[in-house]
Amino acid sequence: MGLVFIVDDSATTRASVDFTLKENGLEVVQAEDGPKCLAAIPGLPKDPDLFILDVNMPGMDGIALIGEIRKVARTKFTPILMLTTESQDTKKAEGKAAGASGWLVKPFDPPQLVEVVRRFVK
Ligand SMILES: [Mg+2]
Repeated sequence: MGLVFIVDDSATTRASVDFTLKENGLEVVQAEDGPKCLAAIPGLPKDPDLFILDVNMPGMDGIALIGEIRKVARTKFTPILMLTTESQDTKKAEGKAAGASGWLVKPFDPPQLVEVVRRFVK
């Protein structure tokens, strides 16, 4: 079963993504910010198959978090999707340069989210 790690400061977004993915047979772990995500990685029962990151979060934003995730041996090559209200091309380019594999704009459409997630997690 694939493991997806969601990082978003919005509890509502985390809950709706969690619900959508679990309903589709995926395992989900959540963190409300970058530092909590990084702190949780060593204790995960298995390597995550995908990250879904918000961009706008207090403290460390999602773009900076990509860089930190890439420094961790366990998640160096894990695909990362950005799920954000940001739709500007400059932000997308920053995300891509930092190592994001895809970009989804909120509010998300559940079937579309599942379709994109399934490209990375079997
Ligand atoms: Mg946010």
